[in-house]
Amino acid sequence: METWKLMSFDNSMDFIEKLIKIWVDYHASDIHITPSKTQVFIRYRISWNLESFYWISLENYDKLLNSIKIASSLAIDEHNHIQDWKMIFNIDHKWAKLSVNVRVSILPIIYWENIVMRLLISSSDRLNINNLWFSEHNLKIISKIKDLEEGLVLLCGWTWSWKTTTLYSLLNQYDPFKSSIFTLEDPVEYTVDWYVQSEVKDKKSASNNISYTFQEWLVWILRQDPDIIMIWEIRRKEEASICLEAANTWHLVMWSIHSNSSIWTITRLKKLWVESYLLSSSLKYVVYQKLIRQICPICREKITFTKQDFPQKFHPFLKQDSYEVYKVHAEWCQNCIKWYVWNTLISDIIENNDDLYDLILSWKWDVEIKNYLLSKWYIPIYIDALNKAIKWEIDIKDVLILE
Ligand SMILES: [Zn+2]
Repeated sequence: METWKLMSFDNSMDFIEKLIKIWVDYHASDIHITPSKTQVFIRYRISWNLESFYWISLENYDKLLNSIKIASSLAIDEHNHIQDWKMIFNIDHKWAKLSVNVRVSILPIIYWENIVMRLLISSSDRLNINNLWFSEHNLKIISKIKDLEEGLVLLCGWTWSWKTTTLYSLLNQYDPFKSSIFTLEDPVEYTVDWYVQSEVKDKKSASNNISYTFQEWLVWILRQDPDIIMIWEIRRKEEASICLEAANTWHLVMWSIHSNSSIWTITRLKKLWVESYLLSSSLKYVVYQKLIRQICPICREKITFTKQDFPQKFHPFLKQDSYEVYKVHAEWCQNCIKWYVWNTLISDIIENNDDLYDLILSWKWDVEIKNYLLSKWYIPIYIDALNKAIKWEIDIKDVLILE
């Protein structure tokens, strides 16, 4: 891979395009442009790690910053305020025409302004649930969501776990001509024709005194006769209650939540003080997902793991006495970025049923819910990951640390 080197350019838009092409090639998530007193560093986040690429002069940085601000409709003479917006780039790269959605965030720092750009390829063929690396078992469950006419689907995970991509792939299974699909996000990550998409900042903006809360916006959407509503991250009881009531009255509600397990998500809602009868009757599925690094097929090293090498919680799921798996080798190769080639997705899914309905209705704690699920068909995320390690896609070490 390219490393730390001085770049200079005359045309800053061409340079932005170059930065985006590198982002595509390395499957990065974010680009960080960080000025210091005398120079400016450009780094990429690739599989959670920040990788250094270029440094540029302050003169070039000035041109770059202005072009980014103009392309994202930000004020170029504003240097003391936090600013964020987005820009869309259409670029030809290798074999494909790409439409790239760039979220730009600018933060004034002691030297100039720090720029972070998060990029998403907004091409609908990427938004296909079959292409998101769900295991066969989980894909079978998640595919049933398209048959729902009402109810609540919770999508949980941390930042940069592709929650939005999964949500849009789920929406993509419906015909937007036959269903009225509303999305409520901050910011909108994918734009899709025929969806009714709103971007709501849950705060008063400095330039505009009129602003609405998520709650007010939600109530208004319900007056617009929606069939399906997709909502990004809800943190307050009032908003959660509106969603649950909508999901109980012939709407399908998909809602994403920051959380570190599907079971814990139910506890999180309990802590929001929503009514348990609303949750138990509306909840259909909880999907938890996480991205995990894909190990390089060229430089990986094969090892044998016996049953005893696995923690106790794995044992009920182990059918063999030993498994051949991979770990990273001492040296990485030309094919990869420090032993890894990209990411894959691991997940676990809870499907509601009569027993779970009772457990949620009586607000049982996560331990009881977990014990019940483990006695049934439920496959915890560490086993979903183990199945990928057995297929040699991921490092066994990354599997063993999963909760
Ligand atoms: Zn390699």
